[in-house]
Amino acid sequence: MNGQMMQLPLLISSLLMHAERHHGEQEIVSRRVEGDIHRCTYREMAARARRMANALARLGVSAGGRVATLAWNGYRHMELYYAVSGSGAVLHTLNPRLHPDQLVYIADHAEDGVLFFDLTFLPLVAAVAPRTRSVRHWVAMTDRAHLPADAAKIPNLLVYEDLVDAENDRFTWPEFDENTASSLCYTSGTTGNPKGVLYSHRSTVLHSYAAALPDALNCSATDVILPVVPMFHVNAWGLPYVGCLTGAKLVYPGAGLDGKSLYELFESEKVTVSAGVPTVWQGLLAYVDANQLRFSTMKRTVIGGSACPPAMLRAFGERHGVHVLHAWGMTEMSPLGTACTFKPKHLAASEEERYAVMAKQGRAIYGVDMKAVDAAGNELAFGSPEQGELLVRGPWVLEHYFKDEGGNPLVKDAAGHDWFPTGDVVTIDADGYMQITDRSKDVIKSGGEWIGSIDLENIAMAHPAVAMAACIAAPHPKWDERPLLVVMKKPGAELGKEELLAFYEGKIAKWWTPDDVVFVDAIPLGATGKMQKNKLRELFKGYVLPTA
Ligand code: AMP
Repeated sequence: MNGQMMQLPLLISSLLMHAERHHGEQEIVSRRVEGDIHRCTYREMAARARRMANALARLGVSAGGRVATLAWNGYRHMELYYAVSGSGAVLHTLNPRLHPDQLVYIADHAEDGVLFFDLTFLPLVAAVAPRTRSVRHWVAMTDRAHLPADAAKIPNLLVYEDLVDAENDRFTWPEFDENTASSLCYTSGTTGNPKGVLYSHRSTVLHSYAAALPDALNCSATDVILPVVPMFHVNAWGLPYVGCLTGAKLVYPGAGLDGKSLYELFESEKVTVSAGVPTVWQGLLAYVDANQLRFSTMKRTVIGGSACPPAMLRAFGERHGVHVLHAWGMTEMSPLGTACTFKPKHLAASEEERYAVMAKQGRAIYGVDMKAVDAAGNELAFGSPEQGELLVRGPWVLEHYFKDEGGNPLVKDAAGHDWFPTGDVVTIDADGYMQITDRSKDVIKSGGEWIGSIDLENIAMAHPAVAMAACIAAPHPKWDERPLLVVMKKPGAELGKEELLAFYEGKIAKWWTPDDVVFVDAIPLGATGKMQKNKLRELFKGYVLPTA
């Protein structure tokens, strides 16, 4: 027997309609690349999103068509979040920190038909535009008055405000199956080419509900949320959706991610909640401490993407009275998996004990189930001191990558349930708090962005003097991890560090360049001849990179 409740599909447009109707007067504030602060209400943003939906239809974007963005956090980017997905197309957020070669690959792989970009990325677009096959329209996210003269070199260039101005705001958000694709984000946190993660309306709306909960990101209509995490990183951790769901005021920092710009915005807009990777907070804390400033409205900040150092938890808590919420997730998980919030017993615990808990990545939020398994795939009981690989499942966890790249990533348990292997190695304590202890995937994460170790190895091995090269992550105080290249030269070959590093120029994004090169006599190999990078990681544990 079926239940007898209304069947309303969980659509992203319903979030916007809720915000417009019930929080229409609430503000969205953006620092624009044009240099000023822009203010609008949810009501105005929703009307502009409908105009943009009309514009997209006029550009020939049809259901399922991919529309890409190369943009900072701002109100226009938010309008696209809703206009594109809401009209049944797929919003593809491109990461502007990638090398142009990778962007060309990703845009063509995704078959992006239209690409919207902030003016900051004009040089990047100029490099990419002649090489992509799929993009028909390039749209500069500005008005005609701010369009620089050199924008003329982009073929078929359109201007965002022209598109909005040419339309009216009468548009009815279509109703369709909630499993329809809504957005697409590529991740480099896997081996091989970047892979696409295709979210659905259902996964996004369910994730938004869960993200807003008190024991997750804890957001309400009375909050002022400033997402530092970019909107090109896994939906800015869901915050543009949580904004509409709760009616919170949203503050977007644009390109101003340095300590001073962020601090000024936190204070002027009375921000209460923020979210970002540890590297950003380091810059902010350094600025605030150097200038003996205080946060007057900030209550808490979500830190994730990389492990939050215990000293950062204390710096925020003890010096500024800001509670750090340590969270863990992945592009493949929309992204939220765990959040580190207390259980009742911690309320009476000592400060030391509480900080020890906060340093963990946290406990599963409802909607995500997780378990650690040993090498044979057997589940480790909560409280086991043994570490194992973390597996997850849930309605906002990836089933397979876009276009089935890499085949079936899931593993089955004895009951026939599918689990997604995260590549994170963890312990889970008796209370269900997960802590990352290692990583089984062969990648490096620097300042919240992935660096492909295999790409770096392949380039080194293309050098005539290199016999074998392995790239591993070395700890770094600012970036969390930086690439360290371990190289075995060919017998009798002459090669120095500078020469090898110069060999990388033009082949990768500059910030991917290894921080150091160590020449060794041999690289440990396994029985099948594969480099044993875990052994190298052990060997170079605690390696101190040279400072620039
Ligand atoms: P991404 O898909 O770029 O969001 O990266 C996801 C990966 O980043 C995870 O699988 C972890 O390896 C790492 N990560 C994310 N959050 C944390 C955290 N709080 N602590 C440590 N590592 C993290």
